[in-house]
Amino acid sequence: MPHSNILRNILVIALINLSLVVAIFDFDKFFAGTAPSPQLIHTKAVYTNTKADQGSNQILGLTDSFPTYEFCNLVFENRLVSPDSILEVVDKENMLPADYMPSDLHTLDASKYNVTRTIQLRESAYNSLIPMLNDMNAANLEYAITSGYRSYTTQQYAFNYWARYVGLAEAGGFAASPGYSEHQLGTTVDIMSAENNFKATSYMGQTQVGIWLKDNAYKYGFVQSYPEGKTEITGYNYEPWHYRYVGKYVAGQIHENGLSLTEYLYDFYNICL
Ligand SMILES: [Zn+2]
Repeated sequence: MPHSNILRNILVIALINLSLVVAIFDFDKFFAGTAPSPQLIHTKAVYTNTKADQGSNQILGLTDSFPTYEFCNLVFENRLVSPDSILEVVDKENMLPADYMPSDLHTLDASKYNVTRTIQLRESAYNSLIPMLNDMNAANLEYAITSGYRSYTTQQYAFNYWARYVGLAEAGGFAASPGYSEHQLGTTVDIMSAENNFKATSYMGQTQVGIWLKDNAYKYGFVQSYPEGKTEITGYNYEPWHYRYVGKYVAGQIHENGLSLTEYLYDFYNICL
């Protein structure tokens, strides 16, 4: 029947065309082309931050809702993971609440370890610092811990002192404004070296204590927050004495990849650098 012939011809032509399309069309390229290539598109955070919503999933929730290869998140004042998290972001753009104080502070035994004042740390950091200091004692390293947990108020005094002493701009290079110091987290210590007269200067990094810490602190979960050559990223001058506890896994990753803590955390939370 002519009708069915016409239908058959249409079907054959359609099949030929379809096979041509299949043969000519580069599906690999097509699908590769539809996947967005990695790029940074700065986007605003989709929520406003209030004290009430400083939950631990705040930033993770945000990155979950965007493909990580397409967006990074701008940092806003007061946007925190959780002050109690050992991976909290505290830098010049992320401040801690003035009333934040860790609830599990322990005091270092001044009869066993060289301290210049009462040194307090949160339990997790304290428990990891003890074996590190025991090993430093055993290696006869002449160190002194000059700072641990610092309250918002203490930091305010310290910053005001330095601002008066060297001027506001210069003080900002090495002293954090109140609320912006990792010392308020209770997971950070300053360890000085006798070889450098316990001074906070970059030479400390070349002393035996400085070298030992650089090579070993990560094994106990501590990292330098402000390493050499990373000032543009961290916002702080090189501070070879300033160590923050982030846990052994993260410390190992940072050490292995030659990162600063800032780079690690910004990548971890997908924050725009
Ligand atoms: Zn410090």
